[in-house]
Amino acid sequence: MLIHIGGAICALPYLRKSQNLTTFADLGLSANILKAIDEAGYKNPSPIQAEAIPLALAGHDIMGLAQTGTGKTAAFGLPLIENLMSDGFKAPPKNTKALILAPTRELVNQIAENLRQYVRKTHLKVNLVVGGVSINRQIQNLSKGSDILVATPGRLIDLIERRAIFLDEARFLVLDEADQMLDMGFIHALRKIAPLLGTPRQTMLFSATMPKLMSELAGAYLTDPKRVQVSTPGKAADKITQSLYYTAQANKTELLKEYLNKSPDGLSLVFSRTKHGAEKLKRTLESAGYDAVSIHGNKSQGQRERAIKAFKSGEARVLVATDVAARGIDIPDVSHVYNYDLPEVPENYVHRIGRTARAGKGGEAIAFVSATEIGYLKQIEKVMKMEIPVAGGIRPQEEKPAPRGGGGGRRGGGGGGQRRSQGGGGGKPHGGGKPHGGGNPAGKPAGKRKPRHRGRKPAA
Ligand code: AMP
Repeated sequence: MLIHIGGAICALPYLRKSQNLTTFADLGLSANILKAIDEAGYKNPSPIQAEAIPLALAGHDIMGLAQTGTGKTAAFGLPLIENLMSDGFKAPPKNTKALILAPTRELVNQIAENLRQYVRKTHLKVNLVVGGVSINRQIQNLSKGSDILVATPGRLIDLIERRAIFLDEARFLVLDEADQMLDMGFIHALRKIAPLLGTPRQTMLFSATMPKLMSELAGAYLTDPKRVQVSTPGKAADKITQSLYYTAQANKTELLKEYLNKSPDGLSLVFSRTKHGAEKLKRTLESAGYDAVSIHGNKSQGQRERAIKAFKSGEARVLVATDVAARGIDIPDVSHVYNYDLPEVPENYVHRIGRTARAGKGGEAIAFVSATEIGYLKQIEKVMKMEIPVAGGIRPQEEKPAPRGGGGGRRGGGGGGQRRSQGGGGGKPHGGGKPHGGGNPAGKPAGKRKPRHRGRKPAA
């Protein structure tokens, strides 16, 4: 069964009562949950919640096609809590009654934070385990038992191997942002973890995109699932204004600064392909006087949390991030998403630009495209089923990206030695006017690019 709920990725516009007559009480949730979500300020269910909650309460497996920002955490979290409340069993020591797997530490934190809000009026205990922080405290917490455990697969496997957690009492499994878990090579981790859970089991799988591998995953882990969907896979929120700028890799930093200067009050999320590139770009921006922070795999959990906090509060106006670190972060006020480097996995473009235009607001997504990224652009436009409007630059001749580990060409993370050959020389990026001379005049390769591939070792 496919339930298609039209609508954008952003969360709030469809919560107006006139558009959506269902209430949380109509969905069959009990008083303690209703009280907690009322205190969280939720007035009406979002479309994915209205569709998924009754199906999940009825015990169906769910295949949900939805991004962060649609209210999907409550869509799987509320029925899960409802089911756990009524089963009458205490959280078993060194075991859990429900397991939620998510690809990144940030997403795990965010899910746990939301669930803790929802269980406030109940006796249920939500635990979380992620990599990058002390394992001993996690072992201690797990020993007392969990009703719901939210985990990244890497750290969970570590804890399973240390016999700090057993999963045989778990009757509920949620795989959140499952497409990203696949991209990150978590399929092997999943194959290890899933057989350890108890049966019969209710499984809910949520994904923002539907690559072919996802259907295989659904086939392997779901039984007769009900499908719910909030937007066509690959379709960006209608409120996002997309554009691209053709430029040499080495000129991207200058171009970014020009864009940032145009909207000093905005909150800009800048995506870099590599950890190294993200850090270098953040430093360059910082030394040029921008309030910039960064999150990537080389940052400690504490550093990542501080950076996100600074960005959320507006204290930092620019967040430079890699895909892995930025995944699932819910920041309602991001005004601009810059694809400083285009993602090699086209679906990630959809995720990235979905970080803006949330909570009913508009947003801009700007991609900087160099000669070696034309191939990625073609893939993205295929997935998006649209041509992204050109804001400036001249489409360069396509170049093949340098092979992994080879090349030695310079990456443009650190502040453009080459000048962009701009027609007017004014240095201002255009909003759709005459194309400018961008290209890659020196014809340099992009340098040491590490292509992401599905077999990568899972990060905790
Ligand atoms: P999620 O897609 O689960 O990450 O949720 C995105 C944001 O929407 C979070 O800040 C939630 O707290 C919020 N949210 C979820 N459901 C609702 C709702 N029904 N009404 C208002 N806000 C909501």
